[in-house]
Amino acid sequence: MNCINCKASFNLEFALSNSAFSWPEMQTIWYVCPDCNKGNHIRFNSQKVELIKSVTNNGTSWETVHDYFEPTIDVRIDSMYLHVWFDGKHFEIKSRV
Ligand SMILES: [Zn+2]
Repeated sequence: MNCINCKASFNLEFALSNSAFSWPEMQTIWYVCPDCNKGNHIRFNSQKVELIKSVTNNGTSWETVHDYFEPTIDVRIDSMYLHVWFDGKHFEIKSRV
């Protein structure tokens, strides 16, 4: 996957490990690129990863910039965390709210 701003490539496990927070209800994490310090929205679905971009200022409409099939992905949400399983590892990304 590549940063939406500077196109630097990043590793999904690194992004999951270094995400500052998530929006569990959107199944999305916030990942800040270490190269350019801009944030990326990464959305997880069962067996799918998407890099998404807001097309409105209020976050009601999103477009998919890039997506790919990743068979080991699974997600679960609760009020405090977005849980993502990737390649047999479990990541808990704390909710922003
Ligand atoms: Zn970047």
